[in-house]
Amino acid sequence: MTARTLFTDRWGGVGEAPYDTFNLAFHVGDDPAAVAVNRQILQQRHKTPPIVWMEQVHGDTVRRVETAELDTLPACDALATDRPGVALAVMVADCLPILLHDPVRHAVATVHAGRNGTLLNVAVKTVEKMGEWYGTRPENLVVRIGPAIGVCCYEVNEEIAAIVRKTHGERYVNGRSLDLKTLNRDLLVQAGIKPENIEISDICTRCGKDYFSYRREKKTGRFAGVIWLEE
Ligand SMILES: [Zn+2]
Repeated sequence: MTARTLFTDRWGGVGEAPYDTFNLAFHVGDDPAAVAVNRQILQQRHKTPPIVWMEQVHGDTVRRVETAELDTLPACDALATDRPGVALAVMVADCLPILLHDPVRHAVATVHAGRNGTLLNVAVKTVEKMGEWYGTRPENLVVRIGPAIGVCCYEVNEEIAAIVRKTHGERYVNGRSLDLKTLNRDLLVQAGIKPENIEISDICTRCGKDYFSYRREKKTGRFAGVIWLEE
Protein backbone atom coordinates (compact mmCIF):
# COMPACT_ATOMS: atom_id res chain seq x y z
CA MET A 1 0.00 0.00 0.00
CA THR A 2 1.14 3.48 -0.80
CA ALA A 3 -0.24 6.87 0.17
CA ARG A 4 -1.48 9.65 -2.04
CA THR A 5 -1.47 13.26 -0.95
CA LEU A 6 -2.67 16.52 -2.39
CA PHE A 7 -3.16 20.16 -1.55
CA THR A 8 -5.84 22.08 -3.39
CA ASP A 9 -5.56 25.77 -4.27
CA ARG A 10 -8.38 28.26 -4.80
CA TRP A 11 -8.93 27.58 -8.50
CA GLY A 12 -10.91 25.06 -10.51
CA GLY A 13 -14.19 25.22 -8.61
CA VAL A 14 -17.58 26.85 -9.02
CA GLY A 15 -17.76 29.34 -6.12
CA GLU A 16 -18.28 33.08 -6.50
CA ALA A 17 -16.40 35.93 -4.84
CA PRO A 18 -15.22 36.15 -2.13
CA TYR A 19 -15.15 32.34 -2.19
CA ASP A 20 -13.88 32.07 -5.74
CA THR A 21 -13.63 29.45 -6.74
CA PHE A 22 -12.69 26.22 -4.98
CA ASN A 23 -13.87 26.73 -1.41
CA LEU A 24 -14.33 23.42 0.40
CA ALA A 25 -15.78 24.66 3.72
CA PHE A 26 -19.46 24.85 4.63
CA HIS A 27 -18.91 27.01 7.74
CA VAL A 28 -17.61 30.20 6.11
CA GLY A 29 -20.81 31.62 4.59
CA ASP A 30 -20.46 30.32 1.04
CA ASP A 31 -23.41 28.88 -0.92
CA PRO A 32 -23.68 25.27 0.36
CA ALA A 33 -24.58 24.05 -3.13
CA ALA A 34 -21.32 25.42 -4.51
CA VAL A 35 -19.34 23.81 -1.67
CA ALA A 36 -21.02 20.47 -2.31
CA VAL A 37 -20.15 20.67 -6.01
CA ASN A 38 -16.56 21.58 -5.16
CA ARG A 39 -16.24 18.59 -2.85
CA GLN A 40 -17.55 16.34 -5.63
CA ILE A 41 -15.06 17.86 -8.06
CA LEU A 42 -12.26 17.23 -5.57
CA GLN A 43 -13.18 13.58 -5.17
CA GLN A 44 -13.67 12.95 -8.88
CA ARG A 45 -10.66 14.89 -10.12
CA HIS A 46 -8.24 13.06 -7.86
CA LYS A 47 -10.15 9.76 -7.68
CA THR A 48 -10.11 9.80 -3.89
CA PRO A 49 -12.07 7.41 -1.73
CA PRO A 50 -14.89 9.05 0.29
CA ILE A 51 -13.41 11.95 2.26
CA VAL A 52 -13.77 12.48 6.01
CA TRP A 53 -13.73 16.14 7.04
CA MET A 54 -13.38 17.61 10.53
CA GLU A 55 -15.14 20.24 12.55
CA GLN A 56 -11.87 21.94 13.41
CA VAL A 57 -11.77 23.61 16.81
CA HIS A 58 -8.13 24.76 17.25
CA GLY A 59 -7.53 22.02 19.82
CA ASP A 60 -5.33 18.94 20.07
CA THR A 61 -7.78 16.06 19.84
CA VAL A 62 -6.87 13.26 17.43
CA ARG A 63 -9.63 10.96 16.19
CA ARG A 64 -9.23 7.47 14.83
CA VAL A 65 -11.28 6.86 11.68
CA GLU A 66 -12.29 3.41 10.46
CA THR A 67 -15.02 4.27 7.99
CA ALA A 68 -16.07 7.24 5.89
CA GLU A 69 -19.69 6.61 6.90
CA LEU A 70 -19.80 8.78 10.00
CA ASP A 71 -23.04 10.03 11.53
CA THR A 72 -21.51 13.25 12.79
CA LEU A 73 -18.57 15.33 11.76
CA PRO A 74 -15.72 14.64 14.20
CA ALA A 75 -14.91 17.73 16.29
CA CYS A 76 -11.14 17.56 16.42
CA ASP A 77 -7.97 18.84 14.74
CA ALA A 78 -6.38 15.61 13.60
CA LEU A 79 -7.58 12.39 11.99
CA ALA A 80 -5.80 9.08 11.52
CA THR A 81 -6.65 5.85 9.73
CA ASP A 82 -5.17 2.61 8.51
CA ARG A 83 -8.05 1.93 6.12
CA PRO A 84 -7.51 2.30 2.37
CA GLY A 85 -11.19 3.14 1.71
CA VAL A 86 -11.08 6.45 3.54
CA ALA A 87 -9.49 9.78 2.63
CA LEU A 88 -8.73 12.27 5.39
CA ALA A 89 -8.96 16.03 4.84
CA VAL A 90 -7.85 19.15 6.67
CA MET A 91 -9.14 22.61 5.72
CA VAL A 92 -7.07 25.76 6.06
CA ALA A 93 -6.65 29.39 5.06
CA ASP A 94 -3.25 30.33 6.64
CA CYS A 95 -3.08 27.55 9.28
CA LEU A 96 -0.75 24.64 8.53
CA PRO A 97 -2.18 21.56 6.81
CA ILE A 98 0.04 18.63 7.82
CA LEU A 99 -0.15 15.18 6.20
CA LEU A 100 1.59 12.15 7.72
CA HIS A 101 2.24 8.73 6.20
CA ASP A 102 3.68 5.64 7.86
CA PRO A 103 4.76 3.44 4.93
CA VAL A 104 5.78 0.60 7.27
CA ARG A 105 2.60 0.14 9.30
CA HIS A 106 0.37 1.56 6.54
CA ALA A 107 -1.36 4.41 8.28
CA VAL A 108 -2.00 8.05 7.44
CA ALA A 109 -3.09 11.19 9.28
CA THR A 110 -4.07 14.81 8.73
CA VAL A 111 -3.45 17.65 11.15
CA HIS A 112 -4.78 21.19 11.42
CA ALA A 113 -2.07 23.25 13.11
CA GLY A 114 -2.71 26.93 13.57
CA ARG A 115 -1.19 28.93 16.38
CA ASN A 116 -3.22 27.22 19.11
CA GLY A 117 -2.73 23.76 17.69
CA THR A 118 0.99 24.34 17.30
CA LEU A 119 1.36 25.55 20.89
CA LEU A 120 -0.66 22.48 21.98
CA ASN A 121 1.73 20.35 19.90
CA VAL A 122 -1.11 18.73 17.97
CA ALA A 123 1.21 17.32 15.27
CA VAL A 124 3.34 15.44 17.78
CA LYS A 125 0.24 14.24 19.64
CA THR A 126 -0.90 12.78 16.32
CA VAL A 127 2.43 10.98 15.93
CA GLU A 128 1.99 9.56 19.44
CA LYS A 129 -1.55 8.37 18.68
CA MET A 130 -0.33 6.71 15.48
CA GLY A 131 2.19 4.88 17.63
CA GLU A 132 -0.48 3.76 20.06
CA TRP A 133 -3.03 2.73 17.42
CA TYR A 134 -0.89 1.41 14.57
CA GLY A 135 2.55 0.81 16.02
CA THR A 136 3.97 3.73 14.05
CA ARG A 137 7.59 4.59 14.74
CA PRO A 138 8.40 8.28 14.23
CA GLU A 139 11.56 7.54 12.24
CA ASN A 140 9.44 5.89 9.54
CA LEU A 141 7.01 8.78 9.09
CA VAL A 142 6.94 10.87 5.93
CA VAL A 143 5.46 14.34 6.45
CA ARG A 144 4.20 17.04 4.12
CA ILE A 145 3.44 20.53 5.43
CA GLY A 146 1.40 22.39 2.84
CA PRO A 147 0.94 26.06 1.91
CA ALA A 148 0.43 28.20 5.02
CA ILE A 149 1.13 31.67 6.31
CA GLY A 150 4.85 32.46 6.39
CA VAL A 151 6.91 34.36 8.91
CA CYS A 152 6.77 37.22 6.36
CA CYS A 153 3.08 37.77 7.15
CA TYR A 154 2.26 36.33 10.54
CA GLU A 155 2.49 39.19 12.99
CA VAL A 156 0.91 38.61 16.42
CA ASN A 157 0.56 40.75 19.51
CA GLU A 158 3.51 41.20 21.84
CA GLU A 159 2.01 38.99 24.51
CA ILE A 160 1.82 35.97 22.20
CA ALA A 161 5.23 36.72 20.69
CA ALA A 162 6.67 36.77 24.21
CA ILE A 163 5.01 33.45 25.08
CA VAL A 164 6.48 31.75 22.01
CA ARG A 165 9.93 33.24 22.66
CA LYS A 166 9.81 31.91 26.19
CA THR A 167 8.27 28.48 25.58
CA HIS A 168 9.91 27.57 22.27
CA GLY A 169 12.78 29.98 21.61
CA GLU A 170 13.83 33.25 19.98
CA ARG A 171 14.36 31.61 16.62
CA TYR A 172 10.64 31.19 15.98
CA VAL A 173 9.86 34.89 16.45
CA ASN A 174 11.06 37.61 14.11
CA GLY A 175 10.10 40.91 15.70
CA ARG A 176 6.47 40.07 16.45
CA SER A 177 6.08 37.56 13.62
CA LEU A 178 5.84 33.82 14.21
CA ASP A 179 7.44 31.14 12.07
CA LEU A 180 4.92 28.33 12.54
CA LYS A 181 6.33 26.22 9.71
CA THR A 182 9.80 25.97 11.25
CA LEU A 183 8.35 25.52 14.72
CA ASN A 184 6.18 22.59 13.63
CA ARG A 185 9.08 21.04 11.74
CA ASP A 186 11.36 21.29 14.76
CA LEU A 187 8.72 19.85 17.09
CA LEU A 188 8.34 16.88 14.73
CA VAL A 189 12.10 16.40 14.53
CA GLN A 190 12.31 16.49 18.33
CA ALA A 191 9.66 13.74 18.32
CA GLY A 192 11.93 11.52 16.22
CA ILE A 193 10.93 12.26 12.63
CA LYS A 194 13.87 12.50 10.25
CA PRO A 195 14.41 16.03 8.88
CA GLU A 196 14.85 14.61 5.38
CA ASN A 197 11.37 13.07 5.65
CA ILE A 198 9.67 16.42 6.21
CA GLU A 199 8.71 18.44 3.15
CA ILE A 200 7.56 22.02 3.76
CA SER A 201 5.84 24.18 1.18
CA ASP A 202 7.58 27.54 0.83
CA ILE A 203 4.32 29.13 -0.31
CA CYS A 204 2.95 31.85 1.98
CA THR A 205 -0.82 31.88 1.65
CA ARG A 206 -1.09 35.58 2.49
CA CYS A 207 1.60 36.71 0.02
CA GLY A 208 0.27 34.77 -2.95
CA LYS A 209 -3.07 34.93 -4.73
CA ASP A 210 -3.56 31.23 -5.36
CA TYR A 211 -4.75 30.23 -1.89
CA PHE A 212 -7.42 31.43 0.49
CA SER A 213 -5.93 33.57 3.26
CA TYR A 214 -7.90 34.55 6.33
CA ARG A 215 -5.36 37.20 7.25
CA ARG A 216 -5.56 38.81 3.82
CA GLU A 217 -9.31 38.60 3.21
CA LYS A 218 -11.17 37.67 6.42
CA LYS A 219 -14.30 36.65 4.51
CA THR A 220 -12.89 33.85 2.43
CA GLY A 221 -12.90 30.14 1.68
CA ARG A 222 -10.78 27.20 2.78
CA PHE A 223 -8.53 24.97 0.72
CA ALA A 224 -7.58 21.46 1.75
CA GLY A 225 -4.88 18.90 2.28
CA VAL A 226 -5.98 15.33 1.64
CA ILE A 227 -4.24 11.99 2.23
CA TRP A 228 -5.29 8.40 1.68
CA LEU A 229 -3.92 4.89 1.43
CA GLU A 230 -4.13 3.20 -1.92
CA GLU A 231 -3.90 -0.53 -2.46
ZN1 LIG B 1 3.87 36.16 3.36
